[in-house]
Amino acid sequence: MHAPGGHPHGIGAVRPENFAWSRAPMIVYWELTNACGLACRHCRATAMPDPAPGELTTAQGLRLLDDIATFGDPLPHIVFTGGDPLRRHDLKLLMAEAAARGIGVSLAPAVTPLLTRERLAEAKADGVQAISLSLDGSTPAYHDGVRGVPGTFEATLTALDWAAELDIPVQVNTLVTSVTAADLPAVYELLSTRKLLRWSLFFLISIGRGTELTELGPGEAEKLMAWLNGLARTAPFQVRTTEATHYRRIAAQAARRRGLDDAGIEASPMARGFGIRDGNGIVFVSNTGDVTPSGFLPVAVGNVKESSLVDLYRNHPTMRALREPERFKGRCGRCEFNRWCGGSRARAYAWTGDVLESDPLCPYTPKQRDAEPELVTA
Ligand code: SF4
Repeated sequence: MHAPGGHPHGIGAVRPENFAWSRAPMIVYWELTNACGLACRHCRATAMPDPAPGELTTAQGLRLLDDIATFGDPLPHIVFTGGDPLRRHDLKLLMAEAAARGIGVSLAPAVTPLLTRERLAEAKADGVQAISLSLDGSTPAYHDGVRGVPGTFEATLTALDWAAELDIPVQVNTLVTSVTAADLPAVYELLSTRKLLRWSLFFLISIGRGTELTELGPGEAEKLMAWLNGLARTAPFQVRTTEATHYRRIAAQAARRRGLDDAGIEASPMARGFGIRDGNGIVFVSNTGDVTPSGFLPVAVGNVKESSLVDLYRNHPTMRALREPERFKGRCGRCEFNRWCGGSRARAYAWTGDVLESDPLCPYTPKQRDAEPELVTA
């Protein structure tokens, strides 16, 4: 699991009406395989050494690309993820075929001996627009402890150097848990000396191998996001969160305090990712073709072997509901920020079994719509 979120290079300039991504997603995450040489403790894919039975074939993959091309202009961007996408024997062909259809592609490789400078140069020549790499700690002890393979920390820094030399934009993904949070300032210091496009902090959801780790509490997450929002104003790269959409509420509240009105906020760069959440601007295709609203929300709405991804994304009742924040329950339903934020639908589901429930990581009490007082524990 190497590309939990964020927005690849150069996309996101076109915002839909009312922040509802009804026509097409901004990003299709396609898990090419769940085969992977790492054994990360938080892995969504519960990646295995070998491909799963029923993995999409090359022919099925090409049909999926044909289908994605019918989303129309602007086309979604595809993130080839895994497992380790470098384990797909037909990766080069799929990248070329995506490019031939005018579809932009990013790659989320695992850091294993398969990731070489030559492989990265080849990916760039094949049209890959950006890559993402995971760095979960500022030291080998932190990072390799999460990733399960000694030496991955140093290898990740080397891969970052290669990408910089090859001029490939990089998003670094960092896991946020109750254990790793204290190390984040040191991770930032380490990254700030390197060339990178974006730092995306993935707030753990207790699914897959992630159940062995612990999420931050709402109070701690709020403090961390306030720190991030301050950092984002001077950082030499973009700062984003994954599965922590209320970072947008915190950014908007800070902007209001600086005197910006809502129209100004919506016109500013900070609004580029507003509205994007599981099923709204994001869709995920598993290695066997199951379609889910994101890689962290394991509610399959169909399978691309039998159905059109375009049809499932646009018309499946679950997908439609995820684009209608007025249907959300509890605080997220009443919240005046819900068009911009809407909460992590994946976390709501993980905690309650209901994709429309409130995001339990957010301690905000909405100001409107007859909010009832609620107790939130940190
Ligand atoms: S209550 Fe829900 S919609 Fe409002 S800021 Fe929190 S997570 Fe976002």
